[in-house]
Amino acid sequence: MNYVALHRHAQVSLSRSAVAHNLEVIKDHAHAQQVMAVLKANAFSHGLPEMAMLSSQSGANRFGVAMLDEALTLRDLGYQQPIDVLGLTDPQFVRLAAQRDITLAFSSLATIQQAAKVLADTSLHLKVSLPVDTGLNRIGFKERDQLVLAIQEVVDSKQLEFQSLWTHFATADTPNETYVDFQISEWQRLTQNLPSQPKEQHFANTGIATWYADKVDTDIIRLGVGLFGIDSSEPTMPMPFELEPVLELTAEVIFSKPIKAGEAVGYGADYRVSRDGWLLTIPIGHSDGYPFNADGMRVLIADGQVGHIAGGVAMDQTMIFVDKPVNVGVQVTLIGKVGVQSVSLSDLAQYSDASIVALMNNFAPRLQRIIVP
Ligand SMILES: *Cc1c(COP(=O)(O)O)cnc(C)c1O
Repeated sequence: MNYVALHRHAQVSLSRSAVAHNLEVIKDHAHAQQVMAVLKANAFSHGLPEMAMLSSQSGANRFGVAMLDEALTLRDLGYQQPIDVLGLTDPQFVRLAAQRDITLAFSSLATIQQAAKVLADTSLHLKVSLPVDTGLNRIGFKERDQLVLAIQEVVDSKQLEFQSLWTHFATADTPNETYVDFQISEWQRLTQNLPSQPKEQHFANTGIATWYADKVDTDIIRLGVGLFGIDSSEPTMPMPFELEPVLELTAEVIFSKPIKAGEAVGYGADYRVSRDGWLLTIPIGHSDGYPFNADGMRVLIADGQVGHIAGGVAMDQTMIFVDKPVNVGVQVTLIGKVGVQSVSLSDLAQYSDASIVALMNNFAPRLQRIIVP
């Protein structure tokens, strides 16, 4: 069962101004007209309802998701903007998509024919997007004749509308410009002189919009990781602008006691306190998506002290060693800023030897989401 823990003091805060800033700088930099906020996987685990609201209020005029269920959730929340499902959907579900005006992607002639059959004898219309595989080799048409047949099938069907052609780049957040150029030439080879033109085309994810915007049409950008203020290239590419991290992770001290040098802390009793000090317990753990192997990591106490995780990260509780007493109720920042100090997701990824993208996608649904200015 899914639940949100409203009765404990641990939370994710999402910054409205950071979302607005990230969206604006990337949109400006790429000279984009439209921003499709890509909110797959519970908005990169930040929270779908919250990120849908913040991104649409900041000027995202449409959404992209990975699967139909995410698109339906957005419709249930009341959003009427265009929604693209960027993964593949089983054609047996196309009625649902057509009824809710959700654009689906198809990667083969056979599935387009199945979709047309499911919709035949209805008054429903389905918007169809055709991904073109220019080198990621995930989904999409990579043979020109197949693409032409697919387009003809869509155009000939009364129920299908040829909404878009698009592609996705494999090296957009890396210095591998050669492969970006290769994919662009593949696009040109596969899409020249098609029998019919779609209403729109889109190419750019965060990486293309940030580092290769001069190479492709960036009228519509599909903005994922950058919306959240995360540099997924780190540390291989210089950022042409500053992003602001959207998320902070905080908890309040629920228990506090003095501790003596030599005492053991946590499971296994392996960790020994090296000097007299204070031990704080916070109600957050690796079940919340904080990394399991972050023993010894730096955290920021609201009184200005820097504490360190002691005795490992347990499922729901974690202990922090500090030198000076801290009362119950004081806030501890695990990811975020306190005064001039900060702990970024990137710091935590490096410390725990995790990928930043894996970490940013790992925040548990049970964490309460709070929107801050
Ligand atoms: C995830 C995804 C995006 C967003 O990519 P980012 O690199 O996170 O900006 C865009 N397009 C497609 C097809 C995707 O799967």
